[in-house]
Amino acid sequence: MPDALLADLIDLRERAAALAVDTLIPLRDDEALVAGERRRRVAAASRAAGIFGLPQPVEVGGVAGSALARTVARDELGRHDVGHLPGLFGPTPGVLAGVGEPLRTDYLLPLLAGEKQGGFGFTEPAGAAHPTSARIEGADLVVNGQKSYVTGGADADFINALVEVEGTGPAMVLIDTATPGVELTRRFNSMDGSHHAAFTFSEVRIPASHVIGEPGQGMTRALGLVSAVRLAIAADSVGLCRYVIDQVTERLQTPGRGGRLPSDSERIRMRYGDLRIRTFAARATLYRAARLVDANEGGHGETANECMAAKVVATETVGEVVDQAIQLAGGEALVEGHPLESVYRRVRVLRLAEGPTDVLRTNIARGALDLDKGCL
Ligand SMILES: Cc1cc2nc3c(=O)[nH]c(=O)nc-3n(C[C@H](O)[C@H](O)[C@H](O)COP(=O)(O)OP(=O)(O)OC[C@H]3O[C@@H](n4cnc5c(N)ncnc54)[C@H](O)[C@@H]3O)c2cc1C
Repeated sequence: MPDALLADLIDLRERAAALAVDTLIPLRDDEALVAGERRRRVAAASRAAGIFGLPQPVEVGGVAGSALARTVARDELGRHDVGHLPGLFGPTPGVLAGVGEPLRTDYLLPLLAGEKQGGFGFTEPAGAAHPTSARIEGADLVVNGQKSYVTGGADADFINALVEVEGTGPAMVLIDTATPGVELTRRFNSMDGSHHAAFTFSEVRIPASHVIGEPGQGMTRALGLVSAVRLAIAADSVGLCRYVIDQVTERLQTPGRGGRLPSDSERIRMRYGDLRIRTFAARATLYRAARLVDANEGGHGETANECMAAKVVATETVGEVVDQAIQLAGGEALVEGHPLESVYRRVRVLRLAEGPTDVLRTNIARGALDLDKGCL
């Protein structure tokens, strides 16, 4: 639960709150700042507050914070509507965690040092006739296919892509975007402000040493990474629920037309109470999932179902909470630049990204019915 935290986590929460109020909110609201400079200042302040390194391994100067610590920080930063600022957290190894040479020197270390950028290629375009595949030719793999919605793909030096290797099964492979046959075919933005790219791979020849982890284990590796990201999304969402409720609370206690307080209305009180109930439930779910991840030595992979449940509950809840909040606040909340309008756009994508809600529901059902996994 978010309540029974030990002293070090209470300290972390207070540091996150101070960072948000003293530095990040002013940086977020400074319209004169160019994006690169804002990112640099956010990163420097976050590093000084001991937040930047929370998801990073100790070998590269990170803190390797527990799932609960990362949850506490994200929940608090979301509560101040600053958790989305680029530069807040250091780059993480992602699926490259624990890779050997040459991937470690050529890609993992430059990634963690901020010198190279990677993309995650999981989603196939809707019209793709076949999944992206690879055939083995001597010491190489030859990749053909397409990936879409690679976040940050236009700036990526490499893509960690899930491919079907003939005779072996799914594998994560690292494809350098400078390799002949890699073509960026589309660049697009989504309503939350992030940008993405689609790629085609035509006879792209990569060394077998670019297979990440054991061949045939690609899906397991991808799901381990995705679980950590899902828990992070859940924490951001729960923090934003609290931010939205703070906004509504203030609105309801401000006299409206004719000097009447909106909070005097029974109907409005009922709606407001519902926002609090939903947020209470989502926050309890989030912290339980984080504690289960930490309690399980297998890490995120073994608690995939609990991370999925937390992501569904939190993202569906923040969607409903901000939608109702706008309804209570009225038309002013729809004006571009209003805090609720901005949150609405950002949280809408979360019910699709990193696993659409219905897909996660069916995954959880499969986990329980076919694999005897997942707790209640
Ligand atoms: C902001 C954002 C960032 C993203 N970043 C990345 C990225 O970096 N890398 C990447 O690879 N992808 C990324 N994606 C893509 C994302 O993973 C996909 O959009 C998502 O998996 C859904 O796939 P789709 O869009 O092809 O929709 P579809 O697979 O066509 O699904 C559409 C709908 O069909 C239904 N449905 C489909 N399959 C099932 C099922 N098995 N059970 C029940 N219902 C089902 C669901 O209602 C679902 O919402 C990103 C998406 C967004 C919005």
